[in-house]
Amino acid sequence: MYDVVIVGAGIIGASVARELSRYDLKVKVLDKENDVANGTTKANSAIIHAGYDPKNGTIMARVNVKGNEMFEDICKELSVPFKRNGSLVLAFSDEDLENVKELCENGTRNGVKDLKVLNKEEVLSMEPNISKEIKGALYAPTGGIVGPWEYTIALMENAVVNGVELQLNSEVTSIEKDENGYKIYVNNEKEPICAKYIVNAAGVYADKIHNMVGSADYDIIPRKGQYYVMDKSQGSLVEKTIFQCPNKLGKGVLVTPTVHGNLLVGPDAQDIENKEDVSTTSDALTFVRDKGVLSVEGISFRDGIRNFAGLRAYSTRPDFIVEEAKDAKGFIDLAGMKSPGLSSAPAIALEAIKLLKNTGCSLKEKKSL
Ligand SMILES: Cc1cc2nc3c(=O)[nH]c(=O)nc-3n(C[C@H](O)[C@H](O)[C@H](O)COP(=O)(O)OP(=O)(O)OC[C@H]3O[C@@H](n4cnc5c(N)ncnc54)[C@H](O)[C@@H]3O)c2cc1C
Repeated sequence: MYDVVIVGAGIIGASVARELSRYDLKVKVLDKENDVANGTTKANSAIIHAGYDPKNGTIMARVNVKGNEMFEDICKELSVPFKRNGSLVLAFSDEDLENVKELCENGTRNGVKDLKVLNKEEVLSMEPNISKEIKGALYAPTGGIVGPWEYTIALMENAVVNGVELQLNSEVTSIEKDENGYKIYVNNEKEPICAKYIVNAAGVYADKIHNMVGSADYDIIPRKGQYYVMDKSQGSLVEKTIFQCPNKLGKGVLVTPTVHGNLLVGPDAQDIENKEDVSTTSDALTFVRDKGVLSVEGISFRDGIRNFAGLRAYSTRPDFIVEEAKDAKGFIDLAGMKSPGLSSAPAIALEAIKLLKNTGCSLKEKKSL
């Protein structure tokens, strides 16, 4: 009998696994794929957002700001590349300027440090390749960049060294509840894996896993985003992450250096039905390209080396879902992990530990790791 089984070995599952490995518990992580970080975690903008964007008072605002603060130390402990390169949200009109001022106020309320609205000259002296059409920008010095898959692999390796079991190629196909906890069936096999507690970190499939134990509470609708990765000749066009003003579909197209010295341009945002569809399309990539050059002048798209798409796990609820399922004691949902899920992951893991503790999981720290 396991104390805790985590479903999903993305950034959220791996962060929880590492935190749980501090305690005297029998923990297993299950993933249907043949490696960790094979879902949304490998296909995103890799930005550690400062936290000015989520609405003040939401779970998302709280875990984004806290998670951002935690990245430096964790990346140092795990020897994973992380850079606090800062970010700019560009304003191209008076209306945009009002929006960045509101973002600045919202961010300050969220606890984001050192936010500042800069004028055009200040922005251009920081980033000379930015469009000369701008009127100003929000500057967030605490924004950062990370290698999401390296980070996730390192978290999981560390958890495994500390005693967590990782079982790949294992799709959870059904779950039964009994008096001792849960019977988890993988790949339709007859013998279940038994656990007292379950952490649901199944990304775009979190609704499916939730519905195996409780009444339907939310749906996950994948929102696809597509990208260009440019080779290193383009990697120093900008030093900071360059955003446009957010719109109703999200944070818009950004241009950013990566921790490896490439340049990333994207994503667009398109709601889709197929949770496996990570194809790229010329229409979406043309949109990304047209938007990208509005922010940064002189991007050479001939130096593109790869295109990819990732699926944001948009839920039918507005906030991140970080809670015990209402009708399934001991079943913790970490769902609806759209952006900024990566930035928030270290803090979400701490919240998951609290939820496990509150539902009765005994957390005794190991004497030595
Ligand atoms: C286009 C885009 C841009 C983004 N940009 C950013 C950004 O810059 N900064 C940021 O903070 N966030 C960003 N995000 C969000 C971030 O990527 C996600 O919040 C994060 O990766 C979610 O991690 P996860 O572990 O919940 O999901 P996933 O990485 O998808 O992991 C879920 C895992 O569950 C497994 N699984 C599913 N079903 C089963 C099953 N039945 N049995 C066993 N295993 C199962 C999957 O195989 C998968 O490995 C972006 C997302 C997208 C798509």
